[in-house]
Parts: sequence; C-alpha cells; structure tokens
Amino acid sequence: MSIMLHGIGVSRGIAIGKAYLREHGQPEVSEYKVPDYLIDAEIDRYKAALDMARSQLVELRTQVPSSVPGEVTDFIDAHLLMLEDNAIRRGPTKMIRRQKCNAEWALKQQRDSLVQAFEDMADSYLRTRKDDIDHVINRIMRILLEQENDTQELIDPDENSSSRVVVSDNLTAAEIILLHNSGVAGIITEHGGPNSHSAILARSIHLPAVMGASNIHRYIKDGEELIINGDDGMILVDSNSKTINHYEELKGKELHRREALLKLRSQAAVTRDNSTITIQANVELYEDIDAMHQAGCDTVGLYRTEFLFLNREDLPTEDEQYNIYKQVVEKLERSTLTIRLLDIGTDKPIPAIAEMEAADNPALGVRGVRLLLKNMELLIPQLRAILRASAHGKIQIMLPMVTNNSEISQVREQLQTVMNSLKKDKLKFDTNLKVGVMIETPAAALAADSFAANSDFLSIGTNDLIQYSLAIDRTDDQVNYLFDPLHPAILRLIRQIIEASNKYHIPVSMCGEMAGDERYTRLLLGLGLREFSMNPSAIPEVKQAILNTRLDFLTPLADKMIKSADHEEIKLLFKEMNKFSMEHS
Ligand code: PEP
Ligand code: MG
Repeated sequence: MSIMLHGIGVSRGIAIGKAYLREHGQPEVSEYKVPDYLIDAEIDRYKAALDMARSQLVELRTQVPSSVPGEVTDFIDAHLLMLEDNAIRRGPTKMIRRQKCNAEWALKQQRDSLVQAFEDMADSYLRTRKDDIDHVINRIMRILLEQENDTQELIDPDENSSSRVVVSDNLTAAEIILLHNSGVAGIITEHGGPNSHSAILARSIHLPAVMGASNIHRYIKDGEELIINGDDGMILVDSNSKTINHYEELKGKELHRREALLKLRSQAAVTRDNSTITIQANVELYEDIDAMHQAGCDTVGLYRTEFLFLNREDLPTEDEQYNIYKQVVEKLERSTLTIRLLDIGTDKPIPAIAEMEAADNPALGVRGVRLLLKNMELLIPQLRAILRASAHGKIQIMLPMVTNNSEISQVREQLQTVMNSLKKDKLKFDTNLKVGVMIETPAAALAADSFAANSDFLSIGTNDLIQYSLAIDRTDDQVNYLFDPLHPAILRLIRQIIEASNKYHIPVSMCGEMAGDERYTRLLLGLGLREFSMNPSAIPEVKQAILNTRLDFLTPLADKMIKSADHEEIKLLFKEMNKFSMEHS
C-alpha cells in the first residue's frame, strides 16, 4: 500500500529508487579497569586509533571528485583539525591515566561532555558543529572497537547505486561524499536539519535529501520503491507506476533546468526591466572564495571570522589574523571583502576568555559586539589585523548583534585609536575604511534610520532578525515551524530597514539565509532590496529568479503585502509574485 511521509527537504531535487536501509547509532561501549602496568599500552592504543582516523580522513580526501566545490573538502579538513584538538588528543589520555579505564570509556565520557557543551549553545550554526564532534569521535571509537568505518563500502558494489535511496538514522558528511561517488539517487535521514554540515554538503553536490524524518525506519522496508522530493520533504513509499512516471517526468525537467543554470555563470544579474542587482557571497574559509568565483561572483558580502577562534585553547594573534585576511583580500583582487567582526558569545566557548561561562539565556547574553566591547583583547587585535590587511585590497568591516547606536560609536572610537597607533608604527592601512552594521535585532530594525545615520552601510541578518522578532529559538526543532519570513512583522521590518538606508543614501544588503533562498528573491526585490549576499551554491538559482522578473510587476504586489496584516492574503500575493517566471519563461 502506498503511503506518504514527511521530513524536512534540505537539498532540492527528486530521487526515485529502492530503499537501502542502514543504521549505525552510537557504538555500544563498556567500561573496564586497566591495571597500572598496562596504562601506557592503553594510551598507545588510543594514539594509534587517532593516527588511523587521520589516515582514513586523508584517504577520504583523495576520493572527493575534483568537480565538487571546495566547501566539501572543508568538512574533511575541519575533522582533521578536530583530531589535533587537545579535547580529543589529550582529554581521553589524561582520563585513562587518572581513572585507570579503557580507551573507549575515556573517549565516551569526553564525547558526552563535549556534546553537552555544544548542545547548550544558542547559535544554530555552532550547535550543528556538535554533529561534527560526534562524527569524529565515532570514527575513533569504531577503530578502537574494530568496527567498520565509512572508508569501507557503504553500498554493496553489486548493487545498482543509481537506483537506490539510502535511508539512515544519520549520515556524516564523509559518508555523503562516498554515497555521492557511488552514484546513489538520494538520501533520507532520521536526524539532522537544514543547518547541519551534511545538509549543506548535500545541497552543494546537488544530492536530493530529506532529513529529520522521525522514526522513518518503522515505515520503510529494505528494497521498497521510494520517491523523495528534496524541495518539500515529501517521501512516497510504494507508489504505483502512474505516480512514478509523473515524478520521472518532473525529474527530467529539473535536470534540464539545472543545465540551463550553469550557463548563467558569466551573465550579469539584470531584471527584465533593466535593473542591475548585486550578488555577493557569504564565505568562511579561504577555499570558499574558489566556490564563489566558480559561481561567477567576485565580492564577499559576509566573511564570518568565527572559524579563526574556534577549536583552540588560545586566541589567534594579530599577525595570524592579518595573514589570513591579507590572503583572502588578495585573492579577491580589486573586489570588496566585508569582514564581520567576531560574532561569538557566551554560547560559544573560547577557552581563552575566562568570563565566558554558560549564560542562562545565551542568545540574549554577552554576544557579538557586546562581547567585543567588554574584551579589548578580542577587539583590538582584530581591528589592527583588518586595518593592516586593508593596505592590500578593498576591505570594509561589519558589526554583529548591534542593539544600540552607542555600540557603533564605541567601535569607531577604538578604530580611531588603532588607526593612530598604526600611523605611529608607520604601518599602511585604508584611512577611509567603511564601517557597516548588521541589522539583526528588532531594536536595530525599528531604529534603522538612526543606525543608518551612523553607518556606511547596513546588512540585514534575517536569521537572527526572525529569531528575535518572532521569539523563536532558531535552534529549537519544536518551534521551527514558526520560523516564517512571510510574517507581516518581518516584511515590515525589512521594508523599514531598506527605506532607512535609502533615506541616508547608504547601501543595504541582506546576508541572512533568506537572501539565498530563491523563493524569496522576487519578494525582496519588490520590497526594494538590490544587494544580496549568500552561500556560493545558492547564486545560480537566485540569479535566475532575478533574470526572470520585472520590478514594475513586483513593486505594486509588495506594496499590497506591506499594507496587509492578513497572513493568508500575504501568502496569496507571494504566490502571485512567483507565478511571473512560470508565465513569462
Ligand atoms: C544572520 O543572523 O542572519 C546572520 C547572517 O548571521 P549568523 O547566521 O552568522 O548569526
Ligand atoms: Mg546573526
């Protein structure tokens, strides 16, 4: 009997094939005491497992096809870095010696405490890094337990992979690479959501994926015919041939569409009524710049600097930061690099900052610019490094989590002091370095005009703006369904921010996920947005939406939307906007 199930569509596309069920769960671990004379040997066994884990990851790296974007190998590099971290390297060995226990037990305890620390974080991006810790530790654990790891075949080589949809409790990014290489049609997982590394990876390699499909193993049997739709999270089990034919046809159309998208790389983003729209990229690592260039984009609208500060005991020095910023801006040649100052808070542990203890409500605690202004040892070296790098290319800085105008003035004061000291040291820098502000709190959005008066540019951070405005924790699965960019309050705030920027003649961009979701491109254009910044893999779709629209068609519909407080009416107008491309292509 045919049934329909639902998960979260995290990577677009239709996949049709037979279910291939696999489940790994957490490896079972038992504790036993190790006699004194065998402690050193137990520690050596642990170290050998670390070495083996490293070799497996290095081997895996060689299996990544060259056509895959740089983002993919970043996952492996991040896992390799974690293997070097003291929490994984020294923590368990100390425990083996202190508790005289087996390596597996020590590693399990370390895993539990690290996972708990990550679960307590408020920031969704960092919370999803918990999965990475889990994946790295499970890799070491399986080696210790002499169980199979992902370098072994995931799919029986006799199987025709392209006719398989893999159904699993969880899949690591590394496993997804292997499944992609073996040509599977799509994946379904019980756990995980759109912000997980595995989901980001599936999107970047265009592997249709549905995640967060609870208890899926109960409803699907091995070998059953499946259809999944990564757009809306639909899973059809055991469909009839008429339904299968219908989805085969849709899949064919989707392939056609993607081929056409590749041709847009060198095309400017211009609407049909001749307005040129700016597309910029959100990047994190040096390698992301390659993915950005491959997507035909040359400007960075959001460079997240958190990565430099995580997974280490000490703080990155001014010189270390300077070298990285310089390397990135030189790679951009003459295009602009917008560096966001460190956006970290009590939710993210930086061991070097002693006062960073877990807050009762970290999302409302000392994070973003608040933390920087309380800790000059974070702010000053970063400002000095950025200013020095500004001698090598076009850089501007952006302040995170601002709620008060005085925070902008305080950062500007510090910037001036740093400029004076660099002048004294006879170091070169851009004396006109622009300072922009992220609008991601309702306070900043409602007072956007006063912020615009104090800033060189604004950038709308919808991930946090929606979280704080609608009072929903962006990391809490239970309230995910309320995360709604079409809420009348959100539309009005966005419009208000754009109007404030226009009034003060300063640029306004959007760098939250909404900017990279092509379903909202027309809406944002209608609301007056002309600059978008997004993950490089989202660029072709958004560009196509821009090419397939007319501002004179969108603007009156957006005006109507703003005036309406009726959610249902807003949704209808939204549908009407997106109908344009279907009718005119
Ligand atoms: C945002 O809040 O929209 C944003 C871009 O910042 P982050 O996702 O890094 O908090
Ligand atoms: Mg934010």
